[in-house]
Amino acid sequence: MIWIGDVLVSPGEGGVYNERMLGGSRVWAPYRSKLSALYHVGTGIELTPGMRVLYLGAANGTTVSHIADYVEVVYSVEFAPRPMQDLLEVARRRKNVMPIMADASRPEQYAPLVEPVDLLYQDVAQPDQAAIAIRNAPFLKNGGSLILMLKTRSVDVRKEPAEVFHDTLEILEASGMVIRESVWLAPYHRDHAAIIGKRAEGE
Ligand code: SAM
Repeated sequence: MIWIGDVLVSPGEGGVYNERMLGGSRVWAPYRSKLSALYHVGTGIELTPGMRVLYLGAANGTTVSHIADYVEVVYSVEFAPRPMQDLLEVARRRKNVMPIMADASRPEQYAPLVEPVDLLYQDVAQPDQAAIAIRNAPFLKNGGSLILMLKTRSVDVRKEPAEVFHDTLEILEASGMVIRESVWLAPYHRDHAAIIGKRAEGE
């Protein structure tokens, strides 16, 4: 990842969402993007030029655009029409963003369009976040990684966020995912956690 002092940046053309520029690069702010927050509070996964990424919950493409500055291709799944319009504009300006209008809980809808990926990134804020990640895990290459952004309040508002976090880790581990890192995204995103897993080699 590229840091200028303690500022995370990505090396692409600016003007996607009024982001600041620094030294000719795009500032990737931790309050705007959970992935940036992860790089500030934890380790995450290093994004590299040859990487293929499947992104679930692309929204208007803010985080997608930063990832696309670092990797080969970002398959970007979003099901809501309004953010999809903005995502299409991002895709028009970045040739390595592939927008897919589909429901991430039904991967069979887009399976023919997506190659095996090195990184599965999920930020869907739904009750069944773990189940959606597990359903999409077959897209991962052997040894590929999952980054799940967990919005605990979307899973169950009556449960303590820590309990939801713990339960989600157990569900992912039971599916065969090897957990590498799990961190809260405070102070940047309240009641959100990041879970980094690896698909076991040979599965
Ligand atoms: N990841 C975005 C970013 O950092 O710029 C923000 C994502 S926002 C928290 C969640 C997005 O996931 C919304 O745009 C929502 O429409 C989308 N979403 C929720 N459930 C989905 C599903 N089952 N399939 C596809 N998109 C979904």
